[in-house]
Amino acid sequence: MFEEFLKKIENYKQIAVFSHIRPDGDCIGSQIALCIWLEKNGFDVRSFNDDDLPPNLVWLPEFYPVTKPSEEDVTECDLAILVDGNATHRFGKIDEWYRKFKLPLMMIDHHPDPENQFDVMISVPEASSTCELIYKLYVEHEPGQLCEKAAKALYTGIITDTGSLQFDSVTPETVEIVADLLRIGKFKPNEIIEKIYSNKSLKQYRLLSRALSTIELYENNQVAVMSVTQQMMDETGTTNVDTEGFVNYPLSIQGVKAAIIFKDLADDGIKMSLRSRSDVNVNLWARELDGGGHQKAAGAWHPGPLEKAIRETVEIGRKQLNKVEKTAST
Ligand code: 5GP
Ligand code: MN
Repeated sequence: MFEEFLKKIENYKQIAVFSHIRPDGDCIGSQIALCIWLEKNGFDVRSFNDDDLPPNLVWLPEFYPVTKPSEEDVTECDLAILVDGNATHRFGKIDEWYRKFKLPLMMIDHHPDPENQFDVMISVPEASSTCELIYKLYVEHEPGQLCEKAAKALYTGIITDTGSLQFDSVTPETVEIVADLLRIGKFKPNEIIEKIYSNKSLKQYRLLSRALSTIELYENNQVAVMSVTQQMMDETGTTNVDTEGFVNYPLSIQGVKAAIIFKDLADDGIKMSLRSRSDVNVNLWARELDGGGHQKAAGAWHPGPLEKAIRETVEIGRKQLNKVEKTAST
């Protein structure tokens, strides 16, 4: 899988590794494990993200620092590697800088339908996570280099991107990889699970309680919609990052095939997260709104206002549901 990557990377020395904006466990985990790998193999490595980390992941960069990039940082590098995203616009300022400085790009990712922007592309949509791919890089190249820190970072990404090994992207091989990571990393699952999931604040639950009361069902109770407004966040002293995981509540209502959380972020517009637990393809759904993601988890933006965003998005979903029903009856 990494043959071309391993050959071409030898042409570079100063490597910048980027993870996508509004970072999650998989992008930061894969970034850190990749940086450790690059450093062990003699490269000068810098690790960048434009955004702050969500509070449940701030412990991860203890294994390898992740900083905000400046234009100057980027001019000092001769290659950029982008992890866990398939288009440069998902990575913030590097989208502009790589064009300006004609910086070669490599990507390692598991989202479907990548943009044709990369000099080397490791794109495996069936992989559970980008962390699973970085694990394979270690195994293919030199398994002995997989250290405790990298194992913990990779474990974090696989767990967070698979809903704790619950999604149907999980294969027997994914579980074998997790077992190997536990062995190599010499840790127990709860050491990391507690950091990721058991550090909620009371104000986050106050926001959740407001959000739960907004849930509405559409399309014969097959689509569930939850919304969060700027006012709710202001009144509970929370921000967008505190809504992490909220969409799983409407998604787990009996009979619901897809759920969407709409976050009305004042001046920025409406950010939505779409989730499916059926044949409804939310990647296609989000793409109709200029967003994207995976078949079962995707995101997009709408200029608003909120009611219009909900109406138009549900309308697009109706087409998706009809398509699934038609396929099922043929
Ligand atoms: P989340 O809903 O957790 O923000 O994102 C779910 C998935 O959709 C992730 O794989 C993420 O990369 C993708 N995604 C989220 N928001 C956007 C967006 O605005 N545009 C695109 N292209 N993908 C998105
Ligand atoms: Mn991912």
